[in-house]
Amino acid sequence: MDLVELVDCVDFSAKKHTNQRRKNAAETPYINHPIGVARILAKEAGVSDLATLQAAILHDTVEDTDTTFEEIEKQFGKEVRDIVDDVTDDKSLPKMERKRRQIEHASHCCPKAKLVKLADKLYNLRDLDQEIPRGWTKERAQEYFQWGSQVVQGLRGTNKEMEASLDKLFKKHGVVT
Ligand code: NDP
Ligand code: ZN
Repeated sequence: MDLVELVDCVDFSAKKHTNQRRKNAAETPYINHPIGVARILAKEAGVSDLATLQAAILHDTVEDTDTTFEEIEKQFGKEVRDIVDDVTDDKSLPKMERKRRQIEHASHCCPKAKLVKLADKLYNLRDLDQEIPRGWTKERAQEYFQWGSQVVQGLRGTNKEMEASLDKLFKKHGVVT
């Protein structure tokens, strides 16, 4: 049953991210982010595809915890693994190279990965719109908006609701798209 599979993902991801916090002043538990990304997909973008919602819940586990792709495939299947793979940066590369690759790779992602990436960017840019992260300058947040818009450029034509919400944020922050 779909709901059982989804709850299993939430439990898996919550355990993996258990000691992590977001970069905001309140140090919100990290798991709020993947749950929020899945919520954007389900409630704002009208997505009900199970694999897409599972991948949203799991999207930062390989990048930010000890989780392996093999573990994800074994527990949640190959489709979910492939979506997570498509949205995961190669951590062996230097940070700026990883950010450059995200821009380059966005248009080549599979359609389900494009949905997860759009929701991820929307969630993070909403966070930045609310509050500058701990240790960041306003300029750094503005650079993130500029970079985010370049990634989103490669994801266009995927979901009109999320793209409209992103465009409003870009406009508010003076980013020309
Ligand atoms: P990071 O990649 O270090 O941080 C952004 C990531 O942190 C997000 O993608 C998100 O990832 C996660 N995150 C956690 N909490 C929050 C939150 N409250 N709000 C938003 N994101 C959160 O940032 P960058 O390196 O991209 O820095 C932004 C820009 O600043 C870059 O374009 C870079 O050029 C520049 N820069 C400036 C530096 C400086 O010291 N001036 C140093 C490094 C970069 P997730 O979805 O995985 O949770
Ligand atoms: Zn994320």
